[in-house]
Amino acid sequence: MAGSDSLSLRAKEGLAELKNVLLGSKIETSEDKLFFEGIDHSRYFFRPDAAVFIKDAEDVGRVLKVANKYGVCVSVRGRGTGCSGGSLPHRGGWVLDLSALDDIKIDASAWVAEVGAGAVTADIDKAAGECGLFYPPDPSSHLYCSIGGNIACNAGGLRAAKYGVTRDYVLALEGYLPSGEFARGGRPLRKFSAGLNLRDLWIGSEGLLGVVTKAFLKLAKRPEKTRTYLFAPPDAKSAFGCVSAMLRAGVMPSILEFMDAQSCVCAAKYCSELSFGNGRTVLLAELDGSDEQIDSAERDMLFVASKYAPAPLIARDGAEAERLWLIRRKCSQSMYEIADSKLSQDIVLPPDKTAEFFEYFDSIGRRHGVATPTFGHAADGNYHIHAMYFGSDAASAAAARRVMDLAIEKCISLGGAVSGEHGIGILKSRYMALQHSPAELEAMRAIKRALDPNNILNPGKVLEPFDLEGVSPLKGVHLPWDK
Ligand SMILES: Cc1cc2nc3c(=O)[nH]c(=O)nc-3n(C[C@H](O)[C@H](O)[C@H](O)COP(=O)(O)OP(=O)(O)OC[C@H]3O[C@@H](n4cnc5c(N)ncnc54)[C@H](O)[C@@H]3O)c2cc1C
Repeated sequence: MAGSDSLSLRAKEGLAELKNVLLGSKIETSEDKLFFEGIDHSRYFFRPDAAVFIKDAEDVGRVLKVANKYGVCVSVRGRGTGCSGGSLPHRGGWVLDLSALDDIKIDASAWVAEVGAGAVTADIDKAAGECGLFYPPDPSSHLYCSIGGNIACNAGGLRAAKYGVTRDYVLALEGYLPSGEFARGGRPLRKFSAGLNLRDLWIGSEGLLGVVTKAFLKLAKRPEKTRTYLFAPPDAKSAFGCVSAMLRAGVMPSILEFMDAQSCVCAAKYCSELSFGNGRTVLLAELDGSDEQIDSAERDMLFVASKYAPAPLIARDGAEAERLWLIRRKCSQSMYEIADSKLSQDIVLPPDKTAEFFEYFDSIGRRHGVATPTFGHAADGNYHIHAMYFGSDAASAAAARRVMDLAIEKCISLGGAVSGEHGIGILKSRYMALQHSPAELEAMRAIKRALDPNNILNPGKVLEPFDLEGVSPLKGVHLPWDK
């Protein structure tokens, strides 16, 4: 991990020029600032040579122009909640931190939010709520993540099955191409069909093809009410059967989350307030709309679910709902009850293959002695699977890695995907050749080469396999969203 003393002369000249051209944005090279710019939720750490805290969107273009001139890598960072290492400066260089671009303006008559890339997702929804409107995509990290990161990863969330993902709400984008030139993707209009739309290329491109500085987002009418239900089917197979039957019957909860028995055991150990769910499989559902709409959907949902699970717990007010939600909120962090480290993936499964996949996942976990707790967004087949291990035990780490490799191979062979919302970053890039054909990968590389011929923007991510051998996540680091 190079310190500034070991910077090449070119990189030093680049940094000196950067200091002269920036208007308002701040360059930091102190170790404490660099630490939190070099780590994300994956907990892998790579020290950047400098971090540029963007205050003025036009400085993004200036940084990229200087980076091209001096051949310096630039890693784009929203708020660092990413799970795949997409923002990490694993080749050194500069981190471009966009978190201060956090303006939010709501146009209540057009139902549009105009937001800076660093705006926190929950703040956008809160501002929309003040006008009776609603920004539906709600990653579980919504209190901490930025809309720029959501756009770059095409983030989903709990309500995705009913309301869709980030892509469905982006009307237009502004930002900078890797060359440092300003560009707009689409326009903030209800319809736009004037040539290739950079917006569609930037969404989900994980910061490889440009830096988003501003977004225009579609808003929706805020649902009047929500009601929460906790079902405890006897096993995972019944839970998956219940989910399929609800979807076949046209019951569409705004939220339908799955937690397997291993996750529920951990959550109950971790949190003494949890008086239910221990050792069972849980489905947590939410219906939204007016009282009449909820009552009617409730009748259909309870009828379908009655074949798979006993009658659910039903929350009649916010406090009761929060009590039911506790199990879901605790399940990620509580897995460390099993072991001190985890590998996790956010796979997507075709609905008719879910039970087959999880039978296989359970069996390989047992065969290799690896605990495999799982939770996820059941209605859209997007599951967060885990392989637990002890960081200080090489054999346990290797077993977890083997289990995860086999699981990803199986998922893709069943027609699934290696990521539904977290993106590829560096941590999943070795699975890209399994997911995509050589022709598909070459088409993606050709687009990257055309837009970023000097390969300065988020290089070595997504499209190039990254070897994790010899690098491990840091232990004992507390990040703001850790509870
Ligand atoms: C507790 C927890 C729960 C989570 N739950 C969910 C969930 O339910 N659904 C979900 O989708 N994700 C979830 N995530 C993952 C994460 O929050 C999302 O991937 C989020 O979109 C990342 O936003 P960020 O601002 O933190 O981005 P970062 O981590 O800073 O960056 C992520 C990627 O986006 C790129 N990027 C960031 N900003 C820009 C920009 N302005 N222009 C171009 N590229 C940019 C980065 O280079 C990187 O490749 C969760 C994470 C945590 C920690």
